[in-house]
Amino acid sequence: MGTGSKVRWAGLVVGGLAACLAVAQPAAPTGAQPASAPASAPAPQALPYGAAVAARFPAPAQRADTPGLQPGRSTYTSNEELSALLAALAQTPGVRRVAAGVSQRGTAIEALHFTGAANGEPGPPGAVRPRVLLLGQQHGDEPAGGEALLALSRELAGGALAPLLQHIEVLVLPRANPDGAAFGLRVAMDGQDINRDHLLLRTPEATALATLARRFTPALVVDVHEHTVVGRYLQKFGAIQRHDLLLQHATAANLPPALAAATEAWFLAPLRSALDADGLTHTWYYTNPTTPGDLRLSMGGVQPDTLRNVQGLQHAVSILLESRGVGIGRLHLERRVHSHLVALRSLLRSAAERAPALAALQQALAQQVAAAACDGTVAVLAAQTPTRRVLPMLDPATGADLPLDVQWNSSLELRTLVQRPRPCGYWLAAEAGEAVARLQALGVQVQTLAAPQPLLAETWRETARVETDRPDVRGRIADARRALLVTVTTESLALQAGAGSFYVGLDQPLAHLVVAALEPDTPSSYFANRLLPGLGSAARVLRRPSFGSTEAGSTAPSSVSADDPRAASPARRE
Ligand SMILES: [Zn+2]
Repeated sequence: MGTGSKVRWAGLVVGGLAACLAVAQPAAPTGAQPASAPASAPAPQALPYGAAVAARFPAPAQRADTPGLQPGRSTYTSNEELSALLAALAQTPGVRRVAAGVSQRGTAIEALHFTGAANGEPGPPGAVRPRVLLLGQQHGDEPAGGEALLALSRELAGGALAPLLQHIEVLVLPRANPDGAAFGLRVAMDGQDINRDHLLLRTPEATALATLARRFTPALVVDVHEHTVVGRYLQKFGAIQRHDLLLQHATAANLPPALAAATEAWFLAPLRSALDADGLTHTWYYTNPTTPGDLRLSMGGVQPDTLRNVQGLQHAVSILLESRGVGIGRLHLERRVHSHLVALRSLLRSAAERAPALAALQQALAQQVAAAACDGTVAVLAAQTPTRRVLPMLDPATGADLPLDVQWNSSLELRTLVQRPRPCGYWLAAEAGEAVARLQALGVQVQTLAAPQPLLAETWRETARVETDRPDVRGRIADARRALLVTVTTESLALQAGAGSFYVGLDQPLAHLVVAALEPDTPSSYFANRLLPGLGSAARVLRRPSFGSTEAGSTAPSSVSADDPRAASPARRE
């Protein structure tokens, strides 16, 4: 949209934006009919900034072709249009529709699987195509990602990107939160933030993504969002957000340094070059708490709860892309979509170029983590490191660069707050079935004890507790349920584990997800979030039990059906 000449100055504070700034409260849309996208059309007078700022973001030469980007549209692509478009694209040879799950209001969560089957055999004999998962709109009110992924799907389905499918398979899931998209909400229908639910799996939407990831074990995951442009930056700093795209890789405790190194060298460096070549600006992702008066800027969090971090802990190269968008309606929409497209194309090309190395990295990291059971230490809780940096933003009146000296909480250097000797595994009581089900949904192998077993173990003893909102870099997580934060000491325990109780070995690729879920004294843990009945319903197991390794006697996390890729691909992680 050619905003430069049309935008008129509308003052610094635009009342119509206020609703976009608060943590979204799902205002009980019960009974409301979802129009195609009721909250998507901005009030025409509510321009968030003046012509001088708008001129910094000229429209791209080409408009992406999606229903929501057609000239004259005031709404984004509706759920019905999206589903019809995926069905049409699935007619292309080598492309199939994948039902990932169903939203809380019963809308299908769908992906396209570009199998590469129409592109001949992959690479040298015996080579596999590593899988790439691209997904958008976990936050329903961030439409640019969904529109970009629809446009990208056309390019993969027989278009300019189709040759890449000789080297990689691609899954595109444009809209992870269809209910939020229908109502213009960040959160899911029950008020939960889907992108803080990837360890707890309380929402059907996060569970759908976990099922998809477990089934396809992607080696590269790209999660596409929009960031706040005016709102609290204008209120707190008197500045407008400047960058077209904010970027971040997985940043959680226990991630192998090799993963971040490969992400930087193979993906982020070429991505930055592609953005530079297109005149698009970028920096590390950051956000600011919704709390008034808090001037700290924080990179994306280090908790093992976001898709970015949980996928990193599953040994995927995991990248967050955030275009401008939250709070500015359809302003610069074509450019926002374009910035995602430039980035996504670059990431797909990098994955295709590095396909054998990417597959090998995923496998090597999985083996390395599984081999570390019983050995050394493991981080239980980590935090960002406070630093300062000068961040370029924009002057709201002149549109000129406005450098701000800010406190910057870095996720690139983690401080370990709590660490413990790495156990061989965890014991779970028979009544911990709910926790077991969530772990299995993530792909964790769990054994059920057929007979009583003595285990050399350690238990946690509570020394203090507080009930609180789950903390987050945005201030708090949208969730009515408070977490039970405890501090603990450990003490040894001669445990007689009963038949029907469970053992979760750390001699498996997802060991660090297990630690994140089962060490109790963190905000994301299953104990803190009441998926475990009590501290005594789990224990740290310090010696490898006599019934053998997880490999030997595991209960499969799910049955493997004929169309499940795991059935045909022995080289995959399972
Ligand atoms: Zn988002």
